Amino acid sequence: MRRPLIAGNWKMNTDRSSGTDLASAIAGRAGDAGDVDLLVCPPSVYLASVKESLGSAEVALGGQNMYHEASGAFTGETSADMLKDVGCKYVILGHSERRHVMGESDSDVNKKTLAALDAGLIPVVCVGELLEEREAGNTAAVIKAQFEGSLAGLTADQMAKTVVAYEPVWAIGTGKVASPEQAEEVHADLRSLIADSYNAETAEQVRILYGGSVKPGNAAELLGQDNIDGALIGGASLKADDFLAIAAAG
Ligand code: 13P
Repeated sequence: MRRPLIAGNWKMNTDRSSGTDLASAIAGRAGDAGDVDLLVCPPSVYLASVKESLGSAEVALGGQNMYHEASGAFTGETSADMLKDVGCKYVILGHSERRHVMGESDSDVNKKTLAALDAGLIPVVCVGELLEEREAGNTAAVIKAQFEGSLAGLTADQMAKTVVAYEPVWAIGTGKVASPEQAEEVHADLRSLIADSYNAETAEQVRILYGGSVKPGNAAELLGQDNIDGALIGGASLKADDFLAIAAAG
């Protein structure tokens, strides 16, 4: 059975003091979270301090982005090995803010995904449709294209390790959560895409997270869906109480 993954994407929030306080608060109560994996993804400049605050608690650390090259003249970028070096186990890739604000393409996300896997990081690869794409009835086609473009060329073993996150862009930071039925439909489609591209066994292993206005009040219903294997949480991950309440619902 897939173990739920409850992931906090802190985005460009916190400072060193509030970030380490948040990490300590989560670490101190991680044991209450139940049978789930916990992950926090702070801004890259605070990764090392947050890692220290997490101590030996069962809370994994992740980056919010990385570059696909291993090293060299790429001013401002961070490699997979650098993330590993400061204690990361995961890296979020292809978040909608990277795609839509920074202009990342499926091909960029694909290169990063392969580089992350090669370096031994677990990628959390995000896909999701815009409101106009949903309203035009194009959700399934958009998700299929993002899946095929962002996850091209993985072996079945690599796919099995990879985490996919479905984040409808219209639900991110808007307070408008996808209904459990809307989310489950896309998650089930994603699992079928994995089964078609790889095999049923691989598809059964892949954790598919939902993200977009997840809060303590809507988490249980979302996480209760057959194909929703965890949450990628923005705003509510900045409060230890809310993050842990969502984890307890997992
Ligand atoms: P919110 O939970 O703030 O809607 O953000 C979701 C998200 O983008 C997580 O990656």
